Amino acid sequence: MISIVIPAFNEEAGIAELYRRIVNAAPAWGEDFEIVIVDDGSRDRTLEICERLGAGDSRLKAVGLSRNFGHQAAVSAGLMHARGSIVAVMDADLQDPPEELLPFLQKIRDGWDVVYAIRTKRKESPLKRICYRLYYRLLKRLATLDIPLDAGDFCVMRREVVDAINRLPERSRFVRGLRSWVGFRQTGLAYERQARFAGEPKYTYRKLLKLAMDGIINFSYRPLQFIMSIGLALAFCSVAGAAFVVVQYVTNWTVFGFNPHQARGWTSLIFVLLFFSAVQLVCLGILGEYMGRLFEEVKQRPVWLVKKRINLPEEPGPPETRSSSATP
Ligand code: UDP
Ligand code: MG
Repeated sequence: MISIVIPAFNEEAGIAELYRRIVNAAPAWGEDFEIVIVDDGSRDRTLEICERLGAGDSRLKAVGLSRNFGHQAAVSAGLMHARGSIVAVMDADLQDPPEELLPFLQKIRDGWDVVYAIRTKRKESPLKRICYRLYYRLLKRLATLDIPLDAGDFCVMRREVVDAINRLPERSRFVRGLRSWVGFRQTGLAYERQARFAGEPKYTYRKLLKLAMDGIINFSYRPLQFIMSIGLALAFCSVAGAAFVVVQYVTNWTVFGFNPHQARGWTSLIFVLLFFSAVQLVCLGILGEYMGRLFEEVKQRPVWLVKKRINLPEEPGPPETRSSSATP
């Protein structure tokens, strides 16, 4: 069975059309399907419409969250409730058209575990498009794992992958990052992102900014390490600068009208200031390193995930029951 997970927040204008389009597209998939709509605390009739549609079709399932928890939380809730052996995630606004799912399913049948969509063209404002482009490139540089460029949440995954993502205990969820993190065989498929079918975008700039921050902060502590780099660079500059001024002093050399003999006391003040600012930054950076590690531990992600076991029992027992010679 194929599960289609759909987070929806105030999508009353498009949800019935979405349902109709999925039902029309489904025969081509050649498999049973269920639709799992997660109503993310909508203030409009989204959940009512789901109820009405669900009354006539048991394949439509809906989960109503108690308030607006945000898109990523809604997707996570949907992944938990999906029962299919193949799970697709798509938006409720028909920007990811259900008709586009077929090539994704084919890739899964070819043996891929995750097929994510790469947005080639976006029908959004130029400013937003530039921001997205820059952001994905920044994320790629900063993140400690390979999060594919321009890949959104639209994807199809195999059961094992969904189970793995569901088992990750962290609360602040950046689903496309977690999806990369769990590994398995992943591939991207290009598609053209459509314009919204109805209604306004539900991602406000504030929510987008939060998502962007989550992506970077949850997958890297480079920003903390950055403090250390600034500190070290500043320390180097202050020592080099001080040495230069000493040379100026001894040789009575004027550079850009500055001669240390004329501004007594200034030099030592400036360089003491610079140097100790640098020392403080380095100390902060060291604290940052520890915080980064603490953060890694607190997230409680498993240290590894297993894709396949050959001639081994499903789950090994806890470490104390294993003989030490058996561990690599
Ligand atoms: N969404 C949600 N909770 C939110 C914001 C958005 O469940 O707090 C859903 C929304 O209904 C849609 C999807 O997330 O199905 C993507 O939202 P939107 O279309 O606003 O984002 P964009 O396509 O502009 O990235
Ligand atoms: Mg959208």
